[in-house]
Amino acid sequence: MTCKLCNKDKKLIKAHIIPEFLYRDIDLYIPDKKGQGRIHGYTNTNGYLKFIKKGLPAGIYDTTILCKDCDSVTIKEYDDYGKKIFTDLLNKETLQNAIEQKLQFLEFELEDYFLFKTFIASIFWRASISNRPEFSIVKLNETEKTIKEIIETRNQNLIDKFEIVIFFLNNGISNQILMNPIEVKKFNSHFFSFIVGGFLINLFPDKNKFLDAWRGFVIKKDNLYRIPIIQDVETSKYIINSFIDSEIFK
Ligand SMILES: [Zn+2]
Repeated sequence: MTCKLCNKDKKLIKAHIIPEFLYRDIDLYIPDKKGQGRIHGYTNTNGYLKFIKKGLPAGIYDTTILCKDCDSVTIKEYDDYGKKIFTDLLNKETLQNAIEQKLQFLEFELEDYFLFKTFIASIFWRASISNRPEFSIVKLNETEKTIKEIIETRNQNLIDKFEIVIFFLNNGISNQILMNPIEVKKFNSHFFSFIVGGFLINLFPDKNKFLDAWRGFVIKKDNLYRIPIIQDVETSKYIINSFIDSEIFK
């Protein structure tokens, strides 16, 4: 089959859409008696959201998208950097401390803006090229091509063609779940979002359809990166509910 990154006809492997460390490292993963992991979560099939009581299977992967070289060499480099950042961020003391002290931001040195932004973009890209029904809603079109080119060629000139905004929602609920990407077309904007471990991660494919209120929070080339913490429980519930048009969090 043809790999969707290198376009070569090769044997394809089980490629994760959302890298495993993102939920393994953040207590979303609960192994059962047989050691099979489940994750608290919502499935999102063709836009229909459903809370899965018994949890999602650990590892939502697709065997129709990537060859081994592309997954475990090319993309791994971005994943490794993402892992380094999130491992630090998800350190329980750091998070707990930020919440207890009611800090407004999770603040850290972002040494490599390009690698981090590409890492986040690559998750949306994997969802976009995936054939799995959970991700059918994610169709990045032109941005899919742009992100592919960035991943492959490391062309830094393309990295600002789209925007990424991350929030940390302190609502005591979404920090325990994984929610697959949804598409949001509201407030004159258009973007895709998913939630993992309290992080609401958003990709705006078209910079002209950006939410102005979020302008100050985009990932940008700056050593100091600040992820806003929505400390207020009601506000964070409101943000999620207003995106998905149904009251998941009451
Ligand atoms: Zn390949």
